Amino acid sequence: MVTRRPNAVIAISIVLAGAILAIAVWLLAQMREDALRRSQDAVFNVSLLVERDVSRNLEIYDLSLRAVIDGLNQPGVLDLPPQIRQMVLFDGSISAKDMGSVFVLDEHGNVRFDSRTSTLPAPPRPADLADRDYFTVHRDAPNLGLYISHPFSPSGSDEDLRIALSRRISRPDGGFGGVVVGTLRLTYFHRLFDGMKLGPSGSMALMLSDGTMLMRRPYDPKTIGINLTGTANYSRFIQRPSGGFFGTAAIDRVERWYAFRHIDVYPLILDVALSTHDIYVEWRRRAWIIGTLIAALDVTIIALAILFSQQLQRRRAAEEELRELARTDGLTGLNNRRAFEEHVSDEWRRAQRSGWPLSLLLIDVDNFKGFNDLYGHSAGDEALIGVARCIAQNVRRPGDTAARYGGEEFAVLLPNTDAAGAQQIGEQIRAAVQALQCRHVASAHHVLTVSVGTATARSKRFKTSRALVDAADEALYLAKGAGRNRVIAYRAAGDGADGAHAVDAVDSASPADRAEATPDTGGRGAH
Ligand code: GH3
Ligand code: MG
Ligand code: MG
Repeated sequence: MVTRRPNAVIAISIVLAGAILAIAVWLLAQMREDALRRSQDAVFNVSLLVERDVSRNLEIYDLSLRAVIDGLNQPGVLDLPPQIRQMVLFDGSISAKDMGSVFVLDEHGNVRFDSRTSTLPAPPRPADLADRDYFTVHRDAPNLGLYISHPFSPSGSDEDLRIALSRRISRPDGGFGGVVVGTLRLTYFHRLFDGMKLGPSGSMALMLSDGTMLMRRPYDPKTIGINLTGTANYSRFIQRPSGGFFGTAAIDRVERWYAFRHIDVYPLILDVALSTHDIYVEWRRRAWIIGTLIAALDVTIIALAILFSQQLQRRRAAEEELRELARTDGLTGLNNRRAFEEHVSDEWRRAQRSGWPLSLLLIDVDNFKGFNDLYGHSAGDEALIGVARCIAQNVRRPGDTAARYGGEEFAVLLPNTDAAGAQQIGEQIRAAVQALQCRHVASAHHVLTVSVGTATARSKRFKTSRALVDAADEALYLAKGAGRNRVIAYRAAGDGADGAHAVDAVDSASPADRAEATPDTGGRGAH
C-alpha cells in the first residue's frame, strides 16, 4: 500500500519523527522537573540542618544566661568570695570558641560581673554599655525574654563582629535590675555556612526578624548589618514560618530558588538558595546533547523517507512507462495487439451486460508488399505511420480504441456503435488514407489505399469476441476480393436478399452498405 503512495512514506516519517520529538520533549520536561525537585530538597535539607545547629547553640547559650540569673537570685551568692561566686554564677556558661564572655550589667549599664575575670574594679566600670540595644530593650520592655542584638564589633574590626544575647534581670518587685548578656562571634555562622554545599552561585543568609543581615554567603563584610526591609524576598520571608519560592536577590540580582525558615522561637530568619542557573546547568547540558541527537535522528528519518519516496516515485514512473511501452506499438504509437485484445475482451463483456452494439473494424493496407518493393522498407514504415494517423484522427470518441493489429493491418474497436456507425468510421478512414495521396504506382488507384472489413455484435449475434474478429476478417477478405479500397460489412448467411453468401461485398460508396446486421444464424461468423 505504501509503495503505491510515496507521499504516505513521508507522512509516516513525519508522524514518527514527531512522536520521537514529543517523547524527547516530555522526557526533558521530566528531567527539568526532577532537577528542580532535587535542588528544592537539597536547599530544604541544608536549611533544616543549619536551623537545627543554630537553634541548639542558641538554646544552650540561653540556658547559661538563665543559669546566671538563677544564680543571682540565690540568696547569699553575692556574699560569696569572688572566686567561688564566679564558679557558682558562670559554671554553666559555655566556653566554645565563638562564644564571648558573659557579663552581668546593673540597672545603669555598669558591668557587675564578668565571666572571664573575678577581679573587677571595686567601683564598677563606667556605665559605658547603657546605650547598647541589648541593654535598653530590656530596660524598656519587661517581658522580652531572650534578645538578640544587632551586630557590632567591640574592637571595630570586621573580623570581630558579634551579636549579643541578653536577658533581663528583674528585681523581686518586678523592677529593672540590669541584664545578663553574652556575645557570639559571627564567624560561627560564617563557618557554618561555608560547610554547606550550595553550588557556585548558591547563597545563604541569616537575618534578624526586623530584616537586619547577620551573615550572608557569599561573605561580604559590607552586607553585614544592612537592613533588608522592603526587599521583595524579605517581604515573603515574613509572611510564613517557612516556605520556598523563586526570587531575585536584592544584593546581587541573581535569580534563585529560596527555602526559608524562621529559627525555632528566636527572632531569626534563615534562607538557603540555589541559583536557577546552577539548578538547571546539568539539565541544560544533557538537554543540548539529547536535543541535538533527537533533531539529528528526526532529520535523518525524514531525509531517508524523502529519498525512499523519491525512489518509489521514480520506480512507479518507470513501471508506468514500461506498462505503457508494453501496450504501445513502437512505430505508430497506437495500441499494440496485446493491449487491443484486452480492450476487446473488456468491451465484449460490457456489451454483453448492457446489450449495446459493439463494432470492430479491421483495416489492411492494399498492395503493401508492392509498395515496399517499389519505394523501400523505410518509405513503407512512413506510409504505415501516415495510415495510423488517419485512423487515430477518425477514432476520437472516448472508449474507442485503435491498434496496430499486425504488420500492415490495423484494428478499431467501437463500443456502443452499430453497423451504420462502423461503416461510417470505416469509410472516413478509407477516405482519409486515400486523401493522403501517397503515390503507389503499382496500385489500381495510383495512391496508397486501405480495405476495411467491419463486423457488429448485437443481440447475441456472436458467441465470442473471437467470432467478432473473425467476422471482420471475413469482411476484409471480401473487400480485398471486391477490388480493395472499400469498406465491407460482415453479413451472416440469411442476411440480405439472396442469402446465398456468407458475407455480401458492398462497395463503400453504396448506401446498401449501411444495412443492419442480423443475428448470427450459425454461418461463418459464428466460429
Ligand atoms: P493486400 O492488398 O492483399 O493486402 O496486399 P499486400 O501486399 O498488402 O499483402 P500482404 O499482407 O501479403 O503483404 C503485407 C506486406 O506488408 C508484407 C510486408 O512486406 C509488409 N509489411 C508488414 N509489416 C511491415 C512493416 O512494419 N513495415 C513495412 N515497411 N512493411 C511491412
Ligand atoms: Mg496483410
Ligand atoms: Mg495488405
